[in-house]
Amino acid sequence: MFEKLREAFSSLTKVISEKKLSEKDLDEVLQNFQLTLLESDVAQEVVESITDSLKAEMTGLSVERSKETGSLVREKLRSIMTGIFIKARTADVFKLIDAKKQKGEPFTILFLGINGTGKTTTVAKVAYLLRQAGYSVVVAAGDTHRAGAIEQLSEHADRISVKVIAQRYGADPAAVARDGALYAKSHHVDVLLVDTAGRMQTNQNLMEEMGKIVRVVNPDFKIFIGDSLAGNDAISQAQLFNKYTGFDGAILTKTDADTKGGAALSISFTTNRPILFLGVGQEYKDLKKFDPVAFVDSLIA
Ligand code: GDP
Repeated sequence: MFEKLREAFSSLTKVISEKKLSEKDLDEVLQNFQLTLLESDVAQEVVESITDSLKAEMTGLSVERSKETGSLVREKLRSIMTGIFIKARTADVFKLIDAKKQKGEPFTILFLGINGTGKTTTVAKVAYLLRQAGYSVVVAAGDTHRAGAIEQLSEHADRISVKVIAQRYGADPAAVARDGALYAKSHHVDVLLVDTAGRMQTNQNLMEEMGKIVRVVNPDFKIFIGDSLAGNDAISQAQLFNKYTGFDGAILTKTDADTKGGAALSISFTTNRPILFLGVGQEYKDLKKFDPVAFVDSLIA
């Protein structure tokens, strides 16, 4: 997981701690570092921000390279990267759910994302996590476009004993979401999860459809689902959803298969929204709370 990004950081600190470098050498080292970050799916603007901050810090240190300089650089990198995640303030979803529960109202979570990213599986994983934590859950099948989408969600829901609210294919997704909200309210269900369609990101209709659902059910929380393996595509999808509907946090799927790792960093940096969980496998239990400090520590060993 994320080997490429880890390698980029360790080779930078290794070069810096082992050789005495001139300013020109340093520029070259940083340029190589930039390339390896780009190859690890870190977005251009994030790469520039990291290397600019690093360069500013290192200019005063350029006289002598030593092991100490290596660890100083490591610390600097650690604080730059942690800073990116701190800026994207995280949210405690359980606390927010509890606050709504105390008022006797269901907490509505809307899931946003493109087809194939693992959205349906992730809705099921979140439902499973909430059930494990003792909350009652209902799911609304808001993807009424893609053939098989309703059955796929229903199969997951059956396996984890969660009720699905659905209509026929072609129905208005906002109406399905509203049915879900009415059901959750009248049956005193703690959390309503709304799955949505995910046709191409450039599809203006999709964004309008999401906007309509948001207006109709006024969700308490919106989660963007991004595929870690999609790299820069995941980043531009996140930016697009953030622009049109906004979201409160992201879940990055398939990180178990991602050797690069730049998407987490880039999505937080470019949208200022936190990564909440990582998908780490195909089973319902394979959803791991994202810990930014542990993530940065694992990259900068
Ligand atoms: P959707 O089209 O976005 O609803 O995507 P699906 O939920 O159908 O998922 C597409 C594929 O990705 C399925 O085979 C899932 O099992 C797989 N998948 C989803 N999340 C993960 C994950 O975290 N890790 C791995 N390895 N596979 C995942």
